Amino acid sequence: MAQIDHLGIAVKSLAAAKSIYEKLGLSISPEETVEQEQVRLVMVPVGESRLELLEATSETSAIAKFIAKRGEGLHHVCLKVSDLPASVARLKKDGVRLVSDEIKTGAGGHQYVFVHPSSTGGVLLELVQE
Ligand code: ZN
Repeated sequence: MAQIDHLGIAVKSLAAAKSIYEKLGLSISPEETVEQEQVRLVMVPVGESRLELLEATSETSAIAKFIAKRGEGLHHVCLKVSDLPASVARLKKDGVRLVSDEIKTGAGGHQYVFVHPSSTGGVLLELVQE
């Protein structure tokens, strides 16, 4: 069964964006940098899910390009799936467009892949292994 792992939000400034959640009394993870995605991020736990605030560390970052084109806002929805390789194989077989063909490994060792918005009704979809 899939769950919403987190919602990714593109922001210009982490410091400015996280203050609303601090005012709401939510706890915020320490900042971390993900070199391969050229982003700095914090996680805000909300119930069983999380908000992921994403700030670009470079002008060539996907987050910088997104903000230049569409402004700050919801960037992606992330679903946790029980068998990521099987899910990816099924999507590929059905001709679903993925952002990258390979499953990537994140900073914390987690496995993830992005599904292109053209295949999802306009929302960038991240899938992570449970
Ligand atoms: Zn994410």
